[in-house]
Amino acid sequence: MDDFASALDAARAQEDLGVSFVDGRYIPGIHDPSFIKSHPGNGDSILDTRFSTAKTIFDALSTAKHTYSRRVWRNVTPAEKRAVLLRFATAIKQNAHRLATLDSLEMGKTISDATQDAHISAALITYYAESIDKWFSRKAVTASNSLAYNTFEPRGVIGAIVPWNYPTCNAALKIGPSLAAGNSIVVKPSEHAYLSTLLLAELAHESGVPPGVFNVVTGTGETSGQQIASSTLCNMITFTGSHATGKRIMGYSAASNGKPMLMECGGKNASIVMPDMKDDIESLAERIVAESFANQGQLCVASSRLLVHRDVAANMTEALCSAVRTRVPGSPLDPSSTFGTIVNGRERDRIVARIALAKEHGARCLVDPSHEVIERPGSYLNPVIFDRVDPDSDLAQVEVFGPVLAITQFNDVDKAISIANGTEYGLSAAVWTNDFKAIKRFASELNVGKLQIRADPTSTSTHGFSLGSEPMGASGFGVEFGMDALNSYSRLMSVELAG
Ligand code: NAD
Repeated sequence: MDDFASALDAARAQEDLGVSFVDGRYIPGIHDPSFIKSHPGNGDSILDTRFSTAKTIFDALSTAKHTYSRRVWRNVTPAEKRAVLLRFATAIKQNAHRLATLDSLEMGKTISDATQDAHISAALITYYAESIDKWFSRKAVTASNSLAYNTFEPRGVIGAIVPWNYPTCNAALKIGPSLAAGNSIVVKPSEHAYLSTLLLAELAHESGVPPGVFNVVTGTGETSGQQIASSTLCNMITFTGSHATGKRIMGYSAASNGKPMLMECGGKNASIVMPDMKDDIESLAERIVAESFANQGQLCVASSRLLVHRDVAANMTEALCSAVRTRVPGSPLDPSSTFGTIVNGRERDRIVARIALAKEHGARCLVDPSHEVIERPGSYLNPVIFDRVDPDSDLAQVEVFGPVLAITQFNDVDKAISIANGTEYGLSAAVWTNDFKAIKRFASELNVGKLQIRADPTSTSTHGFSLGSEPMGASGFGVEFGMDALNSYSRLMSVELAG
């Protein structure tokens, strides 16, 4: 059963507390009449949409600078930092339903996925809490009367600008390593989903993160986001979002203080099915559908291109179409829903227009958008599958960020690699084969940051969060996940002591 009324009460109560969290307290905001916010599950208007003022954003950056300069968090012992972050992780778990309700109401992911996201976020914070006393740098070999070593210094004030698709997880992925490395942070969540990040700041504060160390401000990208990225009070930007926005933010950095950046932008990820998979087609189709359409396809590492060997293409395509028809969009807040909505009507209409364009370009639509689904109040869209997609076409080249899978056939490994590498992106890829020779080639020739072989790119089951990776091309740069992410949020310094 959908519990829209109580979710709405929870969201309004959260917004009434304030729309910024600065120096350990909520601050009210100003109403932005240009921004209408409705629940993507029914189209009802939900929030007044109040955002942080420019003065509050300045104060957030200033207090973060102040706490950093005063070493308020940096000088906390590793054991105490670890204890504080572990309490924070516990608080996230205890408040998983509250966080999930806010995300589901604001951006339309299913409440069950959003609850899982909250638990993943708690696990991420735990990972970085536990890493604090296991991370150290190197000492050089020197003459016996001297000493030379590296230290990891925090970068200072981290400005974190994050998207709406995984509001709690994307924020946790920035907050965990930033705080573990001793920085102060100002997070700006997306204007489309910001309430859970405010709650995260409150939980961190209650867990013992000192006031001013973890702040949250809200607002649109062009106002609040630009102010943070252009501020000389900010020492690093960590960004997750689209390539176009990432390029703009790099420009703000260049025009201000040249702050370093970590850019996690979009992808046009390929999932490659080799012919030796012929006996597993049905189970494989289920797995491919689960990962390609996770979060309604609004996931940076979801595979939006399926490259399938021509020997298994007919069976694979049929199995995918059957699997996809079982994904019926349902109300995001209903615990029985397994497929939610697109973030808002504007995004849904943009995706529908891309589908129409793909048809004009000659791709064959095997599973069409359903009029009955689209016409429901809210921003619903069912999974859509195309085949015979020209690898050079718009559908195969430009990120859709929605539930649309483009199938292209190939004849051999050379062709699969050249199609997979033939976009400006380089985020992730999945390969489905047991052919060892082919695996070796894919692993050395695919231009991606994250390669999964016989494993779903959305899964972290084999290694938890321990492996970092760095995207390439239009997908961005800088390492997230693993202990390597701690290096991203630190500056390497060398110390030499002569004898
Ligand atoms: P977006 O780029 O529109 O917005 C992301 C964030 O940037 C938001 O907080 C937004 O307010 C802010 N922003 C927008 N314009 C800005 C500006 N001029 N200056 C400063 N900040 C600005 O992206 P989105 O629509 O929120 O999210 C979808 C995109 O995110 C997709 O392209 C997706 O692939 C990408 N994404 C990438 C990853 C990854 O790890 N590679 C993960 C999730 C999402």
